[in-house]
Amino acid sequence: MLQLSKHATGVQLLRWNKKLPSASTQDPLGLNLRLSNRLATQLLYCITSITPRARYYAFFPWAFEDYAQNEQGKRADRGRVGGVLARERAMVLGAALHHKGKACSGGSLGGSEEAIKLYERGARPAYNLDAFKHLKAREGQFGAAYKASLINLGLFAGESEGVNEEAAADSQELDEETQSIEVTQLSPRGKRLADAYRRSVGAARYVKDHWTLQASVPAGVLKEFGARAGLCEIARKGAADRDVIRDILFSCDRNETQSTHYRRRMSLLLLLHAIGETAKIGIVFDRHAFNDLTYFGRVIRDEERGTSALLDVPAPLRDSAARWRMFHFHGYLTVALQSFLVTIVGILRQHPSGIDRAKLLDEFGAAALGARFRKLFNVKLPGSFFDLTPAALLSVAGVNVAEVLADRSASLKAASIESRFGERNLSLLLDDGEAEQISGITLASMLLYTVLLRYQTAVGAAYDAWYQNLVQDRFADLSVPGVLGTLRSEFGDTWWHRPNREILNLLIWRFVVLQHQTMGYERGFGGAAPLFHLDGTTIIGTEADFTEPGAPNGRFSSAMQILRDLALVDGDYEEGFALTPEGRTWLRDLLAKEQAS
Ligand SMILES: [Zn+2]
Repeated sequence: MLQLSKHATGVQLLRWNKKLPSASTQDPLGLNLRLSNRLATQLLYCITSITPRARYYAFFPWAFEDYAQNEQGKRADRGRVGGVLARERAMVLGAALHHKGKACSGGSLGGSEEAIKLYERGARPAYNLDAFKHLKAREGQFGAAYKASLINLGLFAGESEGVNEEAAADSQELDEETQSIEVTQLSPRGKRLADAYRRSVGAARYVKDHWTLQASVPAGVLKEFGARAGLCEIARKGAADRDVIRDILFSCDRNETQSTHYRRRMSLLLLLHAIGETAKIGIVFDRHAFNDLTYFGRVIRDEERGTSALLDVPAPLRDSAARWRMFHFHGYLTVALQSFLVTIVGILRQHPSGIDRAKLLDEFGAAALGARFRKLFNVKLPGSFFDLTPAALLSVAGVNVAEVLADRSASLKAASIESRFGERNLSLLLDDGEAEQISGITLASMLLYTVLLRYQTAVGAAYDAWYQNLVQDRFADLSVPGVLGTLRSEFGDTWWHRPNREILNLLIWRFVVLQHQTMGYERGFGGAAPLFHLDGTTIIGTEADFTEPGAPNGRFSSAMQILRDLALVDGDYEEGFALTPEGRTWLRDLLAKEQAS
């Protein structure tokens, strides 16, 4: 139950005293799976949230090639799927045996859990790979995760690019359509990878003596194979595939500069540059630092003291940084709108039979809301929240909307990276549980208004166009310019000076309530949205709960792991990252090449 008391003395919290079951409420407004996904696909094409290890990019081409050369059409042919799967199982099991019952370092070896279980049941002289079910997916880790990325990377003959490469909504696996694509032959690029991997593992008996064709393989043979073939064994001296994967992921084998392959190259270089620069000043580079770097051009130096450092981005990388900034604009929009949703879901719990749209905002006691705001920031709102205008609300942060729009002030200085009222801090607060408090709506409003103002005044036409081009469905695909456009067409350019009540009435109805309904149809819930449904203008909640707003960046962590696998980067999220000597040379050489062209 929602508890909202009206007395203004203490802090007014909005809390539930009953925990409700959570249904499939992932991405309830479609902000992550749709536009955010498309932006990320443009920026780190072929490196997805489910492809975090470099070595699979060479392992699967080798498994295909080895099958084609040694097994296909022979007496014991298990078929392409079966043949590739058997080799994958040998790798996974071999790595577990080699690491004495542990997974490869860096994690994410699909199926290693099952391999470790098998290991822990005691030593065996041999293992039957047909009986070892390491993954549920029909084609193992290939079909579950890597297939689309390998197709899009151009590793198969005759396969065109543009296969949906990101995980399906609720499964953490590629969608069924992608899993059912049949790939047959490698392209020259795929063959290059296969050859390099063969050079890395060819001396192992598993390959040399054609144990690849057998179902039952001696433990010693698997172990020896694992010692060369595993995911972390790509760091070994003789791992010839490392350079080739590096070459291909950095798109050194292509000349184009307008493709998504080129954008991946520039994103990876931007990451390397940022890792090097943050290491110099002792800052742990993580997805938040990356967000800050591209969005504000700065990184936080000391969270407690609220100090930050400017991080220079060399000319060739500025375009990539500007595109990532659009990704993060979308991320802030996501946190703001999802926070509104958290608030709405909380209110619905108070009204089991539903609540009319017109009464929704009355549920927030303005006094309680003001008190929580004051408690958080030690600043008083200059009036009752719903009577304030967006411009008046931002004035609390020291932002003068009229001046920013007229370009007379130093733009948005008051909403800087360190500011309590900047996008960074507001979204951290909302993400940290404040969305569930009564002031969630105030913070989310401030965040949204700041994002809209910054977007309108600081985004170049080319990047705005790039972002808007990725909108495929004007109703289903929410974007920053889309929300801004709706406000301007509804209220005119002076919407900044209308009361919050009017603005939020429109925003919440159109971009939260109706949007969640739209997603109900889009996401195949049979038209029923998981959190609530509509009866005319009455919103009726379901049993499902939604409490955590957030904008993930799954490709970021995969790219970071891949850079480590490729020996360009060292370190972890605890101790921090640094470039290896190899990484420094690689970055310097590739940047020099960019500068020269
Ligand atoms: Zn390993």
